[in-house]
Amino acid sequence: MTKQRVAVLGSTGSIGVNTLDVLARHPERFEVFALTAASRVDEMLAQCARFKPAYAVMADEAAGRLLASRIKAEGISTRVLSGETALCEVAAHEATDVVMAAIVGAAGLAPCLAAARAGKRLLLANKEAIVVGGALFMDAVREGGALLLPIDSEHSAIFQCLPEDRSTWSQRIDHILLTSSGGPFRERDPATFSAVTPEQAVAHPNFAMGRKISVDSATMMNKALEVIEAKWLFDLAPEQVRVLIHPQQIVHSMVVCRDNSVLAQLGTPDMRVPIAYGLSFPERIESGAAALDFTKLTGLSFQSPDHLRYPGLALAWETLRGPAGSTAVLNAANEIAVAAFLDRRIRFDQIHAVNFSVLESISPRLSAAAPPAALEDLLALDERSRAVAEQCVQRLSLQAA
Ligand code: NAD
Ligand code: MG
Repeated sequence: MTKQRVAVLGSTGSIGVNTLDVLARHPERFEVFALTAASRVDEMLAQCARFKPAYAVMADEAAGRLLASRIKAEGISTRVLSGETALCEVAAHEATDVVMAAIVGAAGLAPCLAAARAGKRLLLANKEAIVVGGALFMDAVREGGALLLPIDSEHSAIFQCLPEDRSTWSQRIDHILLTSSGGPFRERDPATFSAVTPEQAVAHPNFAMGRKISVDSATMMNKALEVIEAKWLFDLAPEQVRVLIHPQQIVHSMVVCRDNSVLAQLGTPDMRVPIAYGLSFPERIESGAAALDFTKLTGLSFQSPDHLRYPGLALAWETLRGPAGSTAVLNAANEIAVAAFLDRRIRFDQIHAVNFSVLESISPRLSAAAPPAALEDLLALDERSRAVAEQCVQRLSLQAA
């Protein structure tokens, strides 16, 4: 079997590290062709020493120069590149077979589009890219002949419950149920949300994840982004995507069929399962995850999300029903709000205030007649939304001072 050459975008992050763990279990099947990261040089150097990729890319130019000198000093043969264009180049490189998109945020959109247009097997963890890219993203996949495989555990679960023949999906699915842990504040009194610290918000009960997705899981904006992601991945109407809180995180999501038969995918919560499935589909390979011991399960519970506790969740359906571009506005506002919360510039409960206010100010001015059609349009809208969100953050932090 010829080895599949893999480019891991965001290799120093939580998904990136889990991907390298799975790849390292199957050296006969996969070869690491390229690794990319934002700025963490020490971690990238260690990964290059271990996996000997042909390319390493640092998004940050100064970090790229530092990495290049250290790679040279250590006598490693990896070529170092830097900047966003280089991220797109390795994603679309003719020698790349598989791209793991594990960058966080809209920063990952351009490399995802490059991989999609080049017809790669594209493993999508970077949900913000599809939330911003929407129809443009799906068109790029279709036109490039790429194989888009979900890595988000809920979407991988849905995908695993569906037959390989996509043309049957719409006929089968009545709706899907995305499960959510409810995050670390599922039982905390919402009246105390103004006092939540960044440390409390990133301490997720079941997983060690990146800081941004950890905060999103506390506000349930993560689920809002996943509702939007599901709409695009499975070509569903907004009302066909529903959410259930399931604190045990054993059922990773479900498909409710037209005949009310329900298909679910279960397992221990471990991101290496969806990663291994994306890498090996339609086959299955060892992932490193522990087997589920049914005799040790004390119970599985499900409940509807409380919209007062998680006010941001409803914005998913609202933006999906709004003019095209609304989901990109929501994502940009949320990226700025989360970063401001982590920098202690705004309070936890103000993340929603920023998201809501940016949507209110920009969405009505989006034209249903002229939806953003190209990457440049979406990036311009992303930038404009970030500027409005930044103003909103400044207003809120001045009020607090
Ligand atoms: P993380 O913060 O741990 O890692 C992010 C990676 O992206 C790092 O390698 C970082 O260097 C790189 N990066 C950050 N900003 C960049 C930029 N501007 N340009 C280029 N590279 C940049 O995040 P994570 O938890 O691994 O999440 C990655 C993506 O996967 C997110 O979109 C997240 O929503 C999604 N996801 C994560 C999990 C999880 O369990 N961690 C589960 C499902 C989906
Ligand atoms: Mg998820």
